[in-house]
Amino acid sequence: MTMNKNEILEKCKYYCDWKQDYSYIVSIFNFDKETIAPRGANEESDKALARIQQDIFKVLKSDDYINYVKEAYEKRNEFDEAHRRLFEFQYKEYIRNINISPELQYENSLLLGKSYSDWLNAKEKGDYNLYEPTFRKVVEMSRKLIELRDNKFATYYDMLLDDFEPGNNEVILDKFFSELKEGILPIIKKINASKQPRKDFLSYEVPIPLQERMSEFLLKFNGFDTNCGVLSTTEHPFTDFPSEHDIRVTTHYYLDMFTSNIYSVIHEGGHAIFGQNIPHELFALGLGDFITSAEHETISRFYENYIGRNKNYVYHLYNKTNEICGDIFKDVSFDEFYKGINIAEPSLIRTESDELTYCIHILIRYELEKDLINGKISTQGLNLEWNRKYKEYLGVEPKNDSEGILQDVHWTGAAFGYFPSYALGNAYGAMILNKMKEDIDFDKALLDGDLEKIKNWLKDKVFSIAPLKDPNEWIKAITGKDFSTKDYINYLHEKFSKLYKF
Ligand code: ZN
Repeated sequence: MTMNKNEILEKCKYYCDWKQDYSYIVSIFNFDKETIAPRGANEESDKALARIQQDIFKVLKSDDYINYVKEAYEKRNEFDEAHRRLFEFQYKEYIRNINISPELQYENSLLLGKSYSDWLNAKEKGDYNLYEPTFRKVVEMSRKLIELRDNKFATYYDMLLDDFEPGNNEVILDKFFSELKEGILPIIKKINASKQPRKDFLSYEVPIPLQERMSEFLLKFNGFDTNCGVLSTTEHPFTDFPSEHDIRVTTHYYLDMFTSNIYSVIHEGGHAIFGQNIPHELFALGLGDFITSAEHETISRFYENYIGRNKNYVYHLYNKTNEICGDIFKDVSFDEFYKGINIAEPSLIRTESDELTYCIHILIRYELEKDLINGKISTQGLNLEWNRKYKEYLGVEPKNDSEGILQDVHWTGAAFGYFPSYALGNAYGAMILNKMKEDIDFDKALLDGDLEKIKNWLKDKVFSIAPLKDPNEWIKAITGKDFSTKDYINYLHEKFSKLYKF
């Protein structure tokens, strides 16, 4: 059947509304599971979710939908940029699913549900071997889904990178990570030989209600719209985007690690601010779902580091912490606070790691997941391989698997190919920062507490075009330059040589 332009637009609107409604339901369901749902109901809730996802999948495989997707893709050049982009995404998704049956899709959903529960259980016990049999199935299923695809790439992992970060592949990322290694490891060495800042106060106990007040302050201060978003708690902080007017941020409180909450909230708040400031017309087309993970991590890590660890921002943080915490930090000067927050030292936990060593944590995950998906290594003994790499690159070794291989949630959901997004995001962010500084006085805006000014610049130059561009095109459109690690390495060098005086 041939469709004209209006018929395509009508179908497009119908399926966009349909998708948004179902995404809303799935999103709330996932959020519930990762926050307050009782563990005892895991099996039932996994089954219910798998059924919803299968029903959605059946619509995506229906003749009516496939006919629309093919027609829209063929005639995409007759439409505006946003529709064209949507039609390209929908077509890509159709090709990806072409040989996958609803039964297999259901099996995969159930497996991932079980994987999350088994991971959580194993993480609590600090024992990877309890999770390994399920994890092996997750990897096997991921490889099977790749094998079923018609469009082949040079490696299995390249196919996943194309899902997460179109335009990237192993060759590009190998070069990227080797530049990071070359740039970062010498700085770590110099720091290890320098005088270390005071850090005892980082483990001062801060009662949870006080930390909650801090979270509330930070979200508002950074520009999060509390009318269209909420904050909750979870094991592994994340941000959920059920709809344009419902964005959910999560954090985790530790009594003796108050900065953990602070930087989780700033990071996740960054994701949320991004989500809350995408142009409405792009959100309505569902294009918010197609912002890549590196684009998202660029913004969350921009808030976390380029803003959140900047001296002028830490000035507000210091004052507010003292205001809320009474005399808990009365023996800590601003200078000590700033240097302590920016401490750079090899550690075990990625989410708690400092700005400098962070990418080395990502490098380790990149090397492991690439070999795992390409079938070069197996899940058996992977915890030991993890520990070996931590020892080799960072000189530290986990005492158990919960501070080792079980610390992150990503692999449990088969999100192989996601980790590089964080490192790419750091490097994209440095280029964006330099561009922003040409237009506005960034440091002064932070000192004035004028986060609105920064948000508005990002909204105008960065958020507005993210759903329309692949990451490399996006960076070029914002900065006028091709992607490179230069700005990022320079930034790290400049910042840490000043902090550690070398
Ligand atoms: Zn993030």
